[in-house]
Amino acid sequence: MAIDFSVEPEFQDKLDWITQFVADEVEPLDLYFRGRVSPFDKTNDELRTLIRPLQRQVQDQDLWACHIGPELGGKGYGQVKLALMNEILGRSSFAPSVFGCQAPDSGNAEILAHYGTDAQKAEYLQPLLDGEISSTYSMTEPQAGADPNEFTCRAHRDGDEWVINGEKWFASNHCFASFLIVMVITNPEVAVYKGSSMILVPAGAPGLEVVSDVGIGGEPLGTGHHAYLRFTDVRVPAENLLGDEGSGFKIAQTRLGGGRVHHGMRTVGVAQRALDMMCERVLSRRTKGSLIAEKQSMQHMIADSWVQLQQFRLQVLHCAWLIDQTGDYARIRQHVAGVKVATPKVYIDVVYRAMHAHGSLGVSNQMPLIGMWMGAPVMGIADGPTEVHKDTIAKTVLKQYEPYEGLFPREYLPDRIAEAEQIIANRLEHEVGNQ
Ligand SMILES: Cc1cc2nc3c(=O)[nH]c(=O)nc-3n(C[C@H](O)[C@H](O)[C@H](O)COP(=O)(O)OP(=O)(O)OC[C@H]3O[C@@H](n4cnc5c(N)ncnc54)[C@H](O)[C@@H]3O)c2cc1C
Repeated sequence: MAIDFSVEPEFQDKLDWITQFVADEVEPLDLYFRGRVSPFDKTNDELRTLIRPLQRQVQDQDLWACHIGPELGGKGYGQVKLALMNEILGRSSFAPSVFGCQAPDSGNAEILAHYGTDAQKAEYLQPLLDGEISSTYSMTEPQAGADPNEFTCRAHRDGDEWVINGEKWFASNHCFASFLIVMVITNPEVAVYKGSSMILVPAGAPGLEVVSDVGIGGEPLGTGHHAYLRFTDVRVPAENLLGDEGSGFKIAQTRLGGGRVHHGMRTVGVAQRALDMMCERVLSRRTKGSLIAEKQSMQHMIADSWVQLQQFRLQVLHCAWLIDQTGDYARIRQHVAGVKVATPKVYIDVVYRAMHAHGSLGVSNQMPLIGMWMGAPVMGIADGPTEVHKDTIAKTVLKQYEPYEGLFPREYLPDRIAEAEQIIANRLEHEVGNQ
């Protein structure tokens, strides 16, 4: 089957529109609100005043919440087109919110669309899709992140309610969220893959306590948008269970699969922006009698960045294409994990080179590069650390092979040559016999 990343001219017009719109209308929000207001703070009047007209323009272009699949009432553009869009949106921190596809709301909306009751959809999904509220996805625990087998936050059934007890960690945007989707153990007798479930918890539910707000990098201690949460006898109605009891891990994998690829798509955009900055700078500054761009070591850094970025972009597009072809994240797990592993590596390498090429200015707070660079290692941890995804790739690749029983491997030359000599001898004998 031919692999095809092309889009029809009408969609290319939309991509051109997005490029211009993000540069002219959205990037000013990044610069104006920088570090002051989060795109997730739906209560900020100034942000609402500025973002609403932009969101309306996106809706008028039929480009709102494009991650939602057609089966859930979305536009149905597919992941390849979404990849091309996200490359552009990745250049701006406010752009995903302006286009209604920001994580973690995007994944939470998909879970609600699949498993929510009509009442839950009306109360939470619609306002989420309309950009009126924010949400939180809460899976990681203080004692365990990468290995769900270590999770202990439990929910048990009491009449027509679920009662939740335990702790969660790094629940992003909880301070802005109207609801949480929480992964809990509902059956501790079986492996977590069969004994966990997803539960919808309204923000501010009695018994839900913020132990502390955790920040990233240089944010002052005690501030930040990632909550350490404690649940003490938090009660929610039975219908707040999303999907079947015991299906939490399966839902998480579907949700996280899309999220991981979307991070990769946006990283193509951030890394391209860093490379753009690098090229402009080295063409604009001189040292030791020539432009920095004329130094061979700098040319190699540019070439390395371009090659890495080109390979990564094709990998992301290919993975997006596979999702479009199969619609099955589990089947193409190896490819999703491949994107996840490559994302922080490309991000760190390309941004680091761009920063280095800018000298002191690059590491200063007067350029966006150091901010981008601090975001890079997060990509290797959030949604599961690199090692876990490498394990997935290796296991899937190895399943495609079988052990060889001989003393030496199948490709052992002495044996292969002996076999070939025997084949040739037979052929020659046959040819001579035919003469
Ligand atoms: C910015 C940010 C936002 C986040 N947002 C959310 C959120 O909204 N909701 C949520 O639930 N979680 C969130 N997380 C948490 C994230 O999912 C976890 O940090 C991640 O799963 C890793 O768990 P951990 O931090 O407990 O690390 P650990 O599990 O303690 O792992 C630490 C390190 O050990 C090594 N390691 C782990 N497992 C293996 C292995 N199998 N083989 C070899 N080495 C291994 C890796 O180097 C890893 O980085 C967020 C994290 C970040 C950084």
